[in-house]
Amino acid sequence: MIVIMKVGATRDQVQAVVDRVSELGFSPHPLFGEERTVIAVIGDERPVDESVFRIMSGVDRIVRILKPFKLASRDFHPDDTVVPINGCSIGGNQVIIMAGPCSVESKEQLLETAWAVKEAGVDILRGGAFKPRSSPYSFQGLGERGLEILAEVKEETGLAIITEVMAPEQVSLVGKYADILQIGTRNMQNYNLLHAVGEYGKPVLLKRGMMSTIDELLMSAEYILSHGNYRVILCERGIRTFETKTRNTLDISAVPVLKQNTHLPIVIDPSHACGNWEWVEPLAMGSVAAGADGLLVEVHPHPDMALSDGAQSLRPDKFAALVKKVRAVAAAVGRTV
Ligand code: PEP
Ligand code: MN
Repeated sequence: MIVIMKVGATRDQVQAVVDRVSELGFSPHPLFGEERTVIAVIGDERPVDESVFRIMSGVDRIVRILKPFKLASRDFHPDDTVVPINGCSIGGNQVIIMAGPCSVESKEQLLETAWAVKEAGVDILRGGAFKPRSSPYSFQGLGERGLEILAEVKEETGLAIITEVMAPEQVSLVGKYADILQIGTRNMQNYNLLHAVGEYGKPVLLKRGMMSTIDELLMSAEYILSHGNYRVILCERGIRTFETKTRNTLDISAVPVLKQNTHLPIVIDPSHACGNWEWVEPLAMGSVAAGADGLLVEVHPHPDMALSDGAQSLRPDKFAALVKKVRAVAAAVGRTV
């Protein structure tokens, strides 16, 4: 449930409610709005009689959120969440494009890609050091050396870094290098990992599980939020359907549905959605037209030599062309890139 304080409720009145929530064994999540404060009561609230809060001074009313996700829901937080990353903001008017190779393969490869995507207008570089590959015989990533390369390239180019973390015990290591921690599709329901990044506190990009519903994605986001980390960005990257012409099926309807249900920013990864570089640009354009707050795009200077996901990786010149087209679509829907 959420406790909605009266306009003008004092700090002491808010604190008294927060203390009472804790005393009753729940975790309080206050949200200080411009007009009024609301306090989410997180835990299994079914046995609680809401009048314990209603009678407290400064309380206006109590609203029960019936959805299984609370902190992630628009009922709790009507305004869009904006996540600042190194000078840019994800979830604001600007559509943020994150781009780079699937995997960090070498310093040369990453640096060449980084300068190319920066030149095209990108502020955030992607690149996996720990790779969740479907086959144990595929390239598994450079591990810690990959993180060091990301740091060196960040230092030289000024680009912020998004990279994947696969296990709870890796969070503090990857967190030292990443500006955004990526949780991959295969780990969307790794609750120990969600707990760990929730406590760690750095911004998280949470990818939708390839066989997960929108509500399941939001419940996974709720795990992160309920551990105190509100800087969560959702990512639709295609779901598995009967269609085999594309690697996955981009669920573009997830964008308006998520926008209605949650305040969290929504990014689309058209590369993993379709699996073929030729279709990445139209999907990127469609995503921005539908209201996505950002894109995550795989770019490789030599896709034919890529150690992972070469078929869906754009060459830098094709990526620059994509950015131009996306910019035009963004302008048409009143946004910038
Ligand atoms: C990736 O971003 O390279 C990746 C492995 O993505 P996903 O988890 O969506 O498959
Ligand atoms: Mn990939």
